[in-house]
Amino acid sequence: MSKIILTGDRPTGRLHIGHYVGSLRNRVAIQNQGDYDKMYVMIADAQALGDNHDNIQKIRDNIVEVAIDYLSCGIDPSKTTIFIQSEVPELTELTFYYTNLVTLSRLMRNPTVKEEIKLRNFEASVPVGFVNYPISQTADITAFKANIVPVGEDQLPMIEQAREIVRSFNSTYGETLVEPEAVLPKQEVCRRLPGIDGNAKMGKSLGNGIYLADDEATVTQKVMSMYTDPNHIKVSDPGQVEGNVVFTYLDAFATDEQIRKYAPEYNNLDEIKEHYKRGGLGDVKVKRLLNSILNEVLTPIREKRAYYEQHKDEVYDMLFKGSDEARLEAQKTLAEVKRAMGINYREILKK
Ligand code: ATP
Ligand code: MG
Repeated sequence: MSKIILTGDRPTGRLHIGHYVGSLRNRVAIQNQGDYDKMYVMIADAQALGDNHDNIQKIRDNIVEVAIDYLSCGIDPSKTTIFIQSEVPELTELTFYYTNLVTLSRLMRNPTVKEEIKLRNFEASVPVGFVNYPISQTADITAFKANIVPVGEDQLPMIEQAREIVRSFNSTYGETLVEPEAVLPKQEVCRRLPGIDGNAKMGKSLGNGIYLADDEATVTQKVMSMYTDPNHIKVSDPGQVEGNVVFTYLDAFATDEQIRKYAPEYNNLDEIKEHYKRGGLGDVKVKRLLNSILNEVLTPIREKRAYYEQHKDEVYDMLFKGSDEARLEAQKTLAEVKRAMGINYREILKK
Protein backbone atom coordinates (compact mmCIF):
# COMPACT_ATOMS: atom_id res chain seq x y z
CA MET A 1 0.00 0.00 0.00
CA SER A 2 1.26 3.48 -0.75
CA LYS A 3 2.27 5.72 2.13
CA ILE A 4 0.68 9.14 1.98
CA ILE A 5 1.35 11.43 4.90
CA LEU A 6 -0.57 14.52 5.87
CA THR A 7 -0.13 16.76 8.88
CA GLY A 8 -0.85 20.35 9.66
CA ASP A 9 -0.86 23.17 12.13
CA ARG A 10 -3.20 26.04 12.86
CA PRO A 11 -1.66 29.46 12.13
CA THR A 12 -2.70 30.76 15.54
CA GLY A 13 0.86 31.58 16.50
CA ARG A 14 4.42 30.59 15.82
CA LEU A 15 5.34 26.98 16.41
CA HIS A 16 6.82 25.89 19.72
CA ILE A 17 9.00 23.06 21.00
CA GLY A 18 5.83 21.01 21.69
CA HIS A 19 5.18 20.97 17.94
CA TYR A 20 8.81 20.16 17.35
CA VAL A 21 8.92 17.01 19.49
CA GLY A 22 5.25 16.12 18.95
CA SER A 23 5.19 16.21 15.20
CA LEU A 24 7.71 18.35 13.29
CA ARG A 25 10.80 16.32 14.22
CA ASN A 26 9.00 13.17 13.04
CA ARG A 27 7.92 14.76 9.76
CA VAL A 28 11.45 15.83 8.91
CA ALA A 29 12.81 12.36 9.79
CA ILE A 30 10.22 10.62 7.59
CA GLN A 31 10.85 13.10 4.78
CA ASN A 32 14.61 12.57 4.92
CA GLN A 33 14.36 8.77 5.13
CA GLY A 34 12.30 8.97 1.96
CA ASP A 35 10.10 6.06 3.00
CA TYR A 36 6.83 7.51 1.68
CA ASP A 37 5.06 8.18 -1.59
CA LYS A 38 3.69 11.64 -0.92
CA MET A 39 3.93 14.04 1.98
CA TYR A 40 1.68 17.05 2.59
CA VAL A 41 1.87 19.69 5.28
CA MET A 42 -1.11 21.97 5.61
CA ILE A 43 -1.43 25.35 7.29
CA ALA A 44 -4.96 25.10 8.67
CA ASP A 45 -6.07 28.72 8.37
CA ALA A 46 -9.74 27.98 7.71
CA GLN A 47 -9.89 25.69 10.72
CA ALA A 48 -8.29 28.38 12.88
CA LEU A 49 -11.17 30.74 12.07
CA GLY A 50 -13.44 28.51 14.19
CA ASP A 51 -12.13 30.28 17.26
CA ASN A 52 -10.62 33.36 15.58
CA HIS A 53 -13.23 34.55 13.06
CA ASP A 54 -12.91 38.09 14.37
CA ASN A 55 -9.13 38.10 14.35
CA ILE A 56 -8.23 37.48 10.72
CA GLN A 57 -5.10 39.59 11.04
CA LYS A 58 -3.61 37.14 13.54
CA ILE A 59 -4.29 34.17 11.27
CA ARG A 60 -3.01 35.95 8.15
CA ASP A 61 0.20 37.08 9.86
CA ASN A 62 0.91 33.64 11.23
CA ILE A 63 0.58 31.78 7.93
CA VAL A 64 4.02 32.95 6.88
CA GLU A 65 5.42 32.49 10.39
CA VAL A 66 4.35 28.84 10.49
CA ALA A 67 5.71 28.32 6.97
CA ILE A 68 9.05 29.82 8.04
CA ASP A 69 9.08 27.52 11.07
CA TYR A 70 8.61 24.52 8.73
CA LEU A 71 11.38 25.56 6.40
CA SER A 72 13.69 26.38 9.30
CA CYS A 73 13.20 22.92 10.80
CA GLY A 74 14.08 21.21 7.55
CA ILE A 75 10.78 20.59 5.80
CA ASP A 76 11.88 20.68 2.19
CA PRO A 77 9.33 21.92 -0.36
CA SER A 78 11.02 19.90 -3.10
CA LYS A 79 10.03 16.74 -1.22
CA THR A 80 6.96 17.89 0.74
CA THR A 81 3.96 19.84 -0.52
CA ILE A 82 3.30 22.70 1.88
CA PHE A 83 -0.04 24.42 1.33
CA ILE A 84 -2.64 26.79 2.75
CA GLN A 85 -5.99 25.15 3.57
CA SER A 86 -8.27 27.92 2.28
CA GLU A 87 -6.42 27.91 -1.05
CA VAL A 88 -7.93 24.47 -1.66
CA PRO A 89 -11.70 25.16 -1.71
CA GLU A 90 -12.47 21.51 -2.52
CA LEU A 91 -11.77 20.81 1.15
CA THR A 92 -14.77 22.94 2.11
CA GLU A 93 -16.99 21.08 -0.33
CA LEU A 94 -15.92 17.70 1.02
CA THR A 95 -16.57 18.95 4.56
CA PHE A 96 -20.09 19.89 3.54
CA TYR A 97 -20.90 16.39 2.28
CA TYR A 98 -19.30 14.72 5.31
CA THR A 99 -21.39 16.75 7.78
CA ASN A 100 -24.32 14.46 6.93
CA LEU A 101 -22.39 11.45 8.21
CA VAL A 102 -21.87 12.71 11.77
CA THR A 103 -24.27 13.60 14.56
CA LEU A 104 -23.92 16.65 16.75
CA SER A 105 -23.91 14.51 19.89
CA ARG A 106 -21.02 12.47 18.51
CA LEU A 107 -19.02 15.67 17.89
CA MET A 108 -19.77 16.94 21.37
CA ARG A 109 -18.56 13.66 22.91
CA ASN A 110 -15.09 14.14 21.43
CA PRO A 111 -12.85 14.64 24.51
CA THR A 112 -10.50 17.11 22.77
CA VAL A 113 -13.41 19.17 21.47
CA LYS A 114 -14.86 19.18 25.02
CA GLU A 115 -11.55 20.30 26.49
CA GLU A 116 -11.08 23.02 23.88
CA ILE A 117 -14.64 24.33 24.32
CA LYS A 118 -13.96 24.72 28.02
CA LEU A 119 -10.63 26.41 27.42
CA ARG A 120 -12.21 28.97 25.11
CA ASN A 121 -15.24 29.62 27.35
CA PHE A 122 -17.51 28.38 24.58
CA GLU A 123 -19.64 26.29 26.97
CA ALA A 124 -22.66 28.60 26.85
CA SER A 125 -22.63 28.94 23.08
CA VAL A 126 -20.17 27.32 20.78
CA PRO A 127 -19.77 28.41 17.14
CA VAL A 128 -20.93 25.70 14.71
CA GLY A 129 -17.68 26.19 12.81
CA PHE A 130 -15.71 25.26 15.89
CA VAL A 131 -17.46 21.95 16.64
CA ASN A 132 -17.32 21.22 12.95
CA TYR A 133 -13.55 21.14 12.91
CA PRO A 134 -13.11 17.36 13.27
CA ILE A 135 -15.22 17.01 10.11
CA SER A 136 -13.18 19.57 8.23
CA GLN A 137 -10.03 17.79 9.39
CA THR A 138 -11.43 14.58 7.93
CA ALA A 139 -11.83 16.38 4.61
CA ASP A 140 -8.22 17.57 4.78
CA ILE A 141 -6.93 14.07 5.40
CA THR A 142 -9.14 12.17 2.97
CA ALA A 143 -8.75 14.67 0.12
CA PHE A 144 -5.16 13.50 -0.23
CA LYS A 145 -5.92 9.83 0.57
CA ALA A 146 -3.52 10.18 3.47
CA ASN A 147 -3.16 6.98 5.47
CA ILE A 148 -0.52 8.24 7.92
CA VAL A 149 -1.07 11.27 10.11
CA PRO A 150 1.77 12.11 12.54
CA VAL A 151 0.22 14.04 15.43
CA GLY A 152 0.39 14.79 19.14
CA GLU A 153 -1.86 12.91 21.55
CA ASP A 154 -4.60 15.58 21.64
CA GLN A 155 -5.38 14.77 18.01
CA LEU A 156 -6.17 11.06 18.54
CA PRO A 157 -9.92 11.65 18.93
CA MET A 158 -9.85 13.63 15.65
CA ILE A 159 -8.29 10.77 13.76
CA GLU A 160 -10.79 8.36 15.32
CA GLN A 161 -13.59 10.65 14.12
CA ALA A 162 -12.04 10.71 10.64
CA ARG A 163 -11.95 6.91 10.56
CA GLU A 164 -15.62 6.74 11.51
CA ILE A 165 -16.57 9.18 8.75
CA VAL A 166 -14.55 7.22 6.20
CA ARG A 167 -16.24 3.96 7.20
CA SER A 168 -19.64 5.58 7.10
CA PHE A 169 -18.98 7.12 3.68
CA ASN A 170 -17.61 3.88 2.24
CA SER A 171 -20.48 1.78 3.55
CA THR A 172 -23.07 4.24 2.28
CA TYR A 173 -21.60 5.08 -1.12
CA GLY A 174 -19.07 2.33 -1.82
CA GLU A 175 -15.33 2.00 -1.15
CA THR A 176 -13.88 5.43 -1.99
CA LEU A 177 -12.02 6.96 0.93
CA VAL A 178 -8.91 5.74 2.74
CA GLU A 179 -8.94 5.19 6.52
CA PRO A 180 -6.13 7.18 8.13
CA GLU A 181 -3.94 6.12 11.01
CA ALA A 182 -2.45 8.42 13.64
CA VAL A 183 1.25 8.08 14.30
CA LEU A 184 2.39 9.30 17.69
CA PRO A 185 5.99 10.07 18.67
CA LYS A 186 7.70 6.98 20.10
CA GLN A 187 8.61 8.73 23.35
CA GLU A 188 5.62 9.23 25.59
CA VAL A 189 6.74 12.66 26.90
CA CYS A 190 6.72 13.99 23.34
CA ARG A 191 3.07 13.16 22.74
CA ARG A 192 1.85 16.04 24.89
CA LEU A 193 4.67 18.26 25.99
CA PRO A 194 3.62 20.32 29.04
CA GLY A 195 3.85 24.10 29.13
CA ILE A 196 6.63 25.98 30.95
CA ASP A 197 4.00 26.81 33.59
CA GLY A 198 3.44 23.13 34.31
CA ASN A 199 0.11 23.10 32.41
CA ALA A 200 -0.57 19.66 30.91
CA LYS A 201 -0.08 20.96 27.35
CA MET A 202 2.12 23.54 25.75
CA GLY A 203 -0.21 25.38 23.40
CA LYS A 204 -0.01 28.38 21.12
CA SER A 205 -3.29 29.65 22.49
CA LEU A 206 -2.14 29.08 26.07
CA GLY A 207 0.90 31.39 26.00
CA ASN A 208 3.08 28.89 27.85
CA GLY A 209 5.50 27.89 25.15
CA ILE A 210 9.11 28.11 24.13
CA TYR A 211 8.89 29.16 20.50
CA LEU A 212 11.23 27.98 17.76
CA ALA A 213 11.71 31.65 16.92
CA ASP A 214 12.63 32.72 20.48
CA ASP A 215 16.13 34.18 20.68
CA GLU A 216 18.74 32.75 23.01
CA ALA A 217 18.12 35.28 25.79
CA THR A 218 14.36 34.59 25.73
CA VAL A 219 14.88 30.83 25.90
CA THR A 220 17.26 31.29 28.83
CA GLN A 221 14.82 33.54 30.64
CA LYS A 222 11.97 31.05 30.09
CA VAL A 223 14.04 28.08 31.22
CA MET A 224 15.20 29.89 34.34
CA SER A 225 11.60 30.73 35.29
CA MET A 226 10.37 27.20 34.70
CA TYR A 227 8.18 25.24 37.04
CA THR A 228 10.09 22.54 38.99
CA ASP A 229 9.43 20.65 42.21
CA PRO A 230 7.89 23.18 44.64
CA ASN A 231 9.22 21.17 47.62
CA HIS A 232 12.80 21.24 46.38
CA ILE A 233 13.82 24.37 48.21
CA LYS A 234 17.39 23.83 49.36
CA VAL A 235 19.97 22.21 47.09
CA SER A 236 20.38 19.43 49.65
CA ASP A 237 16.61 18.60 49.60
CA PRO A 238 15.61 15.44 47.74
CA GLY A 239 13.77 16.44 44.55
CA GLN A 240 11.05 14.94 42.44
CA VAL A 241 11.51 14.46 38.70
CA GLU A 242 7.94 13.38 37.89
CA GLY A 243 5.85 16.38 36.93
CA ASN A 244 9.00 18.52 36.95
CA VAL A 245 8.96 20.15 33.52
CA VAL A 246 12.71 20.74 33.43
CA PHE A 247 13.19 16.97 33.53
CA THR A 248 10.32 16.38 31.14
CA TYR A 249 12.02 18.61 28.56
CA LEU A 250 15.35 16.90 29.19
CA ASP A 251 13.58 13.57 28.52
CA ALA A 252 12.24 14.97 25.25
CA PHE A 253 15.47 16.56 24.02
CA ALA A 254 18.65 15.39 25.71
CA THR A 255 20.92 12.81 24.13
CA ASP A 256 23.63 11.03 26.17
CA GLU A 257 26.18 12.81 24.04
CA GLN A 258 24.76 16.22 24.99
CA ILE A 259 24.66 15.24 28.68
CA ARG A 260 28.36 14.33 28.58
CA LYS A 261 29.14 17.53 26.70
CA TYR A 262 27.34 19.94 29.02
CA ALA A 263 27.50 18.00 32.32
CA PRO A 264 30.65 15.88 32.01
CA GLU A 265 30.38 14.51 35.55
CA TYR A 266 27.39 12.40 34.41
CA ASN A 267 27.08 9.74 31.69
CA ASN A 268 23.39 10.00 31.04
CA LEU A 269 20.13 11.59 32.14
CA ASP A 270 19.30 8.75 34.55
CA GLU A 271 22.39 9.55 36.63
CA ILE A 272 21.30 13.19 36.85
CA LYS A 273 17.79 12.18 37.88
CA GLU A 274 19.20 9.89 40.60
CA HIS A 275 21.33 12.72 41.95
CA TYR A 276 18.36 15.11 41.96
CA LYS A 277 16.16 12.57 43.74
CA ARG A 278 18.84 11.90 46.39
CA GLY A 279 19.36 15.61 47.01
CA GLY A 280 22.42 17.73 46.46
CA LEU A 281 21.65 18.88 42.93
CA GLY A 282 20.21 22.37 42.52
CA ASP A 283 17.53 23.49 40.06
CA VAL A 284 19.79 26.17 38.59
CA LYS A 285 22.34 23.60 37.48
CA VAL A 286 19.72 21.40 35.82
CA LYS A 287 18.13 24.44 34.17
CA ARG A 288 21.50 25.55 32.79
CA LEU A 289 21.96 22.11 31.29
CA LEU A 290 18.52 22.22 29.67
CA ASN A 291 19.19 25.73 28.41
CA SER A 292 22.42 24.64 26.68
CA ILE A 293 20.71 21.66 25.06
CA LEU A 294 17.67 23.65 23.89
CA ASN A 295 19.88 26.35 22.45
CA GLU A 296 21.97 23.73 20.64
CA VAL A 297 18.78 22.44 18.98
CA LEU A 298 17.33 25.88 18.30
CA THR A 299 20.40 27.73 17.01
CA PRO A 300 20.45 26.18 13.51
CA ILE A 301 16.66 26.67 13.29
CA ARG A 302 17.08 30.35 14.23
CA GLU A 303 19.80 30.81 11.65
CA LYS A 304 17.60 29.49 8.85
CA ARG A 305 14.71 31.58 10.12
CA ALA A 306 16.80 34.75 9.84
CA TYR A 307 17.26 34.02 6.12
CA TYR A 308 13.56 33.43 5.40
CA GLU A 309 12.51 36.48 7.40
CA GLN A 310 14.47 38.50 4.85
CA HIS A 311 13.02 36.52 1.93
CA LYS A 312 9.30 36.28 2.65
CA ASP A 313 8.45 36.51 -1.05
CA GLU A 314 10.20 33.18 -1.61
CA VAL A 315 8.09 31.70 1.16
CA TYR A 316 4.83 33.02 -0.34
CA ASP A 317 5.79 31.68 -3.79
CA MET A 318 6.47 28.28 -2.27
CA LEU A 319 3.11 28.32 -0.44
CA PHE A 320 1.09 29.24 -3.53
CA LYS A 321 2.91 26.67 -5.67
CA GLY A 322 2.25 24.02 -3.02
CA SER A 323 -1.40 25.08 -2.79
CA ASP A 324 -1.82 24.70 -6.56
CA GLU A 325 -0.33 21.19 -6.41
CA ALA A 326 -2.51 20.24 -3.46
CA ARG A 327 -5.58 21.59 -5.20
CA LEU A 328 -5.09 19.28 -8.18
CA GLU A 329 -5.08 16.26 -5.87
CA ALA A 330 -8.11 17.45 -3.91
CA GLN A 331 -10.03 18.02 -7.15
CA LYS A 332 -9.46 14.39 -8.14
CA THR A 333 -10.76 13.12 -4.81
CA LEU A 334 -13.76 15.44 -4.86
CA ALA A 335 -14.67 14.13 -8.33
CA GLU A 336 -14.44 10.55 -7.00
CA VAL A 337 -16.55 11.44 -3.99
CA LYS A 338 -19.26 13.03 -6.13
CA ARG A 339 -19.18 10.06 -8.49
CA ALA A 340 -19.56 7.64 -5.57
CA MET A 341 -22.48 9.67 -4.23
CA GLY A 342 -24.04 9.89 -7.66
CA ILE A 343 -24.08 13.69 -7.74
CA ASN A 344 -21.70 13.92 -10.71
CA TYR A 345 -24.57 15.28 -12.81
CA ARG A 346 -22.44 16.48 -15.69
CA GLU A 347 -21.17 12.94 -16.22
CA ILE A 348 -24.50 11.16 -15.68
CA LEU A 349 -27.06 13.50 -17.18
CA LYS A 350 -25.12 14.28 -20.37
CA LYS A 351 -25.41 10.71 -21.63
P1 ATP B 1 -3.77 25.97 19.50
O1 ATP B 1 -3.51 26.23 20.97
O2 ATP B 1 -4.06 27.19 18.71
O3 ATP B 1 -4.72 24.84 19.28
P2 ATP B 1 -1.56 24.13 19.35
O4 ATP B 1 -0.30 24.54 20.05
O5 ATP B 1 -2.45 23.12 19.99
O6 ATP B 1 -2.34 25.46 18.96
P3 ATP B 1 -2.06 22.99 16.76
O7 ATP B 1 -1.77 23.77 15.54
O8 ATP B 1 -3.45 22.88 17.24
O9 ATP B 1 -1.13 23.61 17.92
O10 ATP B 1 -1.46 21.52 16.64
C1 ATP B 1 -0.60 21.11 15.60
C2 ATP B 1 0.04 19.77 15.89
O11 ATP B 1 0.96 19.86 16.97
C3 ATP B 1 -0.95 18.67 16.30
O12 ATP B 1 -0.51 17.45 15.74
C4 ATP B 1 -0.83 18.62 17.80
O13 ATP B 1 -1.16 17.34 18.32
C5 ATP B 1 0.65 18.91 17.98
N1 ATP B 1 0.90 19.53 19.27
C6 ATP B 1 0.41 20.73 19.69
N2 ATP B 1 0.82 20.99 20.95
C7 ATP B 1 1.58 19.92 21.33
C8 ATP B 1 2.29 19.57 22.55
N3 ATP B 1 2.29 20.39 23.58
N4 ATP B 1 2.96 18.39 22.57
C9 ATP B 1 2.96 17.56 21.51
N5 ATP B 1 2.32 17.82 20.35
C10 ATP B 1 1.63 18.98 20.27
MG1 MG C 1 -4.44 22.70 19.07
